[in-house]
Amino acid sequence: MLRTHTNGELRLENAGQTVTLVGWVQRTRDKGGIFWIDLRDRYGITQLTLEEGQEAETLREAARELGREFVIQVTGKVAERYSKNDKMPTGDIEIRVESLEVLNPAKLPPFLIEDDTDGGDDLRMKYRYLDLRRTPVRQNLMLRHRMAQAVRRYLDAQQFIEVETPVLIKSTPEGARDFVVPSRMNPGEFYALPQSPQTFKQLLMVSGFDRYFQIVKCFRDEDLRADRQPEFTQIDCEMAFVEQEDILNTFEGLVQYLFKEVKGLEIGKLPRMEYADAMRYYGNDKPDTRFEMKFVELNDVVKGQGFPVFDNAELVVGINAMSCAAYTRKQLDELTEFVKRPQLGATGLVYARVEAGGQVKSSVDKFYSQEELQKWKAAFNANEGDLLLILAGPADKTRKALSELRLEMGQRLGLRDKDTFSALWVVNFPLLEYIEEEGRYFAMHHPFTSPKPEDVALLDNPETIGQARANAYDMVINGVEVGGGSIRIHDRAVQAQMFSLLGFSPEEAQAQFGFLLDAFEYGAPPHGGIAFGFDRLCSLFGGADSIRDFIAFPKNNSGRDVMIDSPSEISGAQLKELSIKTDVVGK
Ligand code: ASP
Repeated sequence: MLRTHTNGELRLENAGQTVTLVGWVQRTRDKGGIFWIDLRDRYGITQLTLEEGQEAETLREAARELGREFVIQVTGKVAERYSKNDKMPTGDIEIRVESLEVLNPAKLPPFLIEDDTDGGDDLRMKYRYLDLRRTPVRQNLMLRHRMAQAVRRYLDAQQFIEVETPVLIKSTPEGARDFVVPSRMNPGEFYALPQSPQTFKQLLMVSGFDRYFQIVKCFRDEDLRADRQPEFTQIDCEMAFVEQEDILNTFEGLVQYLFKEVKGLEIGKLPRMEYADAMRYYGNDKPDTRFEMKFVELNDVVKGQGFPVFDNAELVVGINAMSCAAYTRKQLDELTEFVKRPQLGATGLVYARVEAGGQVKSSVDKFYSQEELQKWKAAFNANEGDLLLILAGPADKTRKALSELRLEMGQRLGLRDKDTFSALWVVNFPLLEYIEEEGRYFAMHHPFTSPKPEDVALLDNPETIGQARANAYDMVINGVEVGGGSIRIHDRAVQAQMFSLLGFSPEEAQAQFGFLLDAFEYGAPPHGGIAFGFDRLCSLFGGADSIRDFIAFPKNNSGRDVMIDSPSEISGAQLKELSIKTDVVGK
């Protein structure tokens, strides 16, 4: 080893020892009498000193030549510091340098390698290997490592077996867009990268593995949003001979274990919320339950008083922003603008303040008497000082807009603290959802999800198909969907019916998923599973909004790796070898 200790290790007890350290020069200071070097590695920072008169002048000269990020090796004596630094674990000691060797000099880095860097996103990504030297980024990856280890410990103890499934698989029409890989040996044919190992894990259940997991890369060629990466990692799990209840309990246990192990927090039992209630009370299938502010439906309270906006609306619904009655005109205008943005598309915002003495003053007073407004107050259970915010319009759109307004108010009121965690299960999702533009039903979770047995009959009637519920569930933490899964279909006939509902002809179903349908005829056990978004879970544990800093080498918003400059064109020869016609692809 080139060192005797790391830079995070030495304490007062080590005083007097001669040690050898290696690392990167974080910074140097020359105060004439004393020369300081902060030496950094992944374990910490240790202060090195060269004092005038004590060391050979040649040594001090060598030290003066050091630049940021030089890689050096020093030997010296551990000594108690004159002025201690209680902010760093090694702050009681310093090393009086006796010899110094430059192992490799460094060019001046393009941005500061400090906790607060002056490097913008693009620069940091281009030089990601330097960005990774920064403590906050490194800590994120260490958190990720600890999470992965804890996941393995918990699942291993529960008899889960980690199995790797293939990465070169087959493109399927359902779900997101596939990334495809041309096959040289099979001209004109393509593999697809897995969007998830879904069918393979189900086949492992048919094989009798009983409990499977994998921390696995998945690929989806979707337009990227802030929190999406084209390749991401899932904790993918499947169990046989279980019902929904068993899955919920097992994986609630996993998440409780992670919070306990990694954050030292007891999150307790996870409440369960029906999908229908999540939509009704939060306008969202992943409600942020760190705060209440539930929706209050007002159709019965406000209609019939001659206010056309309410009278003509499918749904009138509001929230009580408690203690916000003192909001100024300007603040209310901001909120109105917020809900009128094209993404939300509300036509306006009606508000009512509960004033001192309990009188209600609304923005639509000319249609509503005080007596009527008191009914509003009662519906919201509002008190003096509260502000009622009300939207009206088509039900789905209005709920969606109010959900955003609720989150915005939660933010403004400081109710979305990143160190507070509120986890729950959302259960009983609809099985199918009708997509207007496509003119057909799509599986809300995926085509392998089993309907609730009591709802199977609904599938036979076109009128009621949309009402059938699935044995599907999501885990939601702080308004983020961290995981989702379902009990699967394990019967060939039911799976075939499902494909037919989704618009597959029997031939298409056989061509795409024949392997699974066939497998179901060889003794498929009842089974179900779940997958967690691992990157997202890590960012949530790390208190960050973006998953990017929890991935060692992420891609940017256009799906590029700007460090290795990928994707990139390939040579004509390569294209030819792959039987891809060059006049179609590339230049
Ligand atoms: N494969 C599913 C997904 O990626 C999860 C599951 O149903 O287990 O969302």
